[in-house]
Amino acid sequence: MLYDVIIIGGGPAGLNAAIYACRAGLKVGIVEKDAPGGKMVKTEKIENYIGVPAVNGAELGLKMFNQATSFGAEYLYGDVQKIEKEDSFKVICDSDTYESKRIIVATGTSERKLGIPGEDKFYGRGISYCAVCDGALYKDQDMAVIGGGNSALQEALYLSRFARKIYLIHRRDGFRGEEILAKRIKETPNIELVLNAIPLSINGQAKVNEIVVQNVLNKEQRNLEVAVIFPFIGFDPATSFLPKEVLDERGYIKVDKNYETNIKGLYAAGDCVPKDLRQVITAASDGAIAATKVAQSLEK
Ligand code: NAP
Repeated sequence: MLYDVIIIGGGPAGLNAAIYACRAGLKVGIVEKDAPGGKMVKTEKIENYIGVPAVNGAELGLKMFNQATSFGAEYLYGDVQKIEKEDSFKVICDSDTYESKRIIVATGTSERKLGIPGEDKFYGRGISYCAVCDGALYKDQDMAVIGGGNSALQEALYLSRFARKIYLIHRRDGFRGEEILAKRIKETPNIELVLNAIPLSINGQAKVNEIVVQNVLNKEQRNLEVAVIFPFIGFDPATSFLPKEVLDERGYIKVDKNYETNIKGLYAAGDCVPKDLRQVITAASDGAIAATKVAQSLEK
């Protein structure tokens, strides 16, 4: 079957692209390897999506997915390995290959790793990248959250409901995240700020029992006893399946104002394109524009 457009990724960029493409009369497939919603699935509460005062991320993701499929988008499970262009595009997945006239890549980003001893060894045994998934498993225990961006601040606030204590470890003394979140962090009694500190190693036996951090100013080390560590130190674009010619030096997908790459017919939208503000609303906006441009290109 030949699709008009295959959208790779089922986060807000991909799902909104699907809604706009379906409503423009296109035959649309969405290839996704995880649950629909993208990073929203791992977010307990989204409170800055206009018109929706506060909503659980997975719930919003599912609503977007149902809205997209209600207009006719087909959900195609798959982990994309490669894209090939002949007359049309071939989307080669781990198990199937799909064919489409146009592609919109909306694969977002994946969690950046600390790269310190113990991180890989204890993954799933006291290292987690998803507070919503794993926070409650460590109720009344001590936890560490690493990072100073919106993710670290938001997730530390969420985890403070379960934790006996949270060490929020950040390598500077100023936060990158929003002031409103930083203010809430400072007002939360069971969050201890460990600033100007970098993690050195994660230790334990069967499970994590401590993280060693070093103060970057005086070089002093502290061993913090914790049951679980949540690194939230940013993301890298999930674009390894694409040809190098469409990527910038950091791996983000270079697009023009129509969200088209330097390969004609290959578009990209959302967190995987270079931008200053990565939010649900900016991803959704990219998706709408990319899908509209795809529809216009097929009319010509
Ligand atoms: P981010 O904004 O890139 O912040 C990453 C944080 O981790 C920074 O504070 C950075 O420190 C620190 N860091 C990076 N590498 C590190 C390392 N190797 N060791 C220790 N610390 C390290 O990432 P994010 O917080 O995941 O957010 C990603 C995007 O999603 C942002 O655009 C963010 O605004 C958005 N987001 C928004 C919301 C919201 O609106 N509520 C929620 C979540 C995410 P430095 O500050 O020193 O660089």
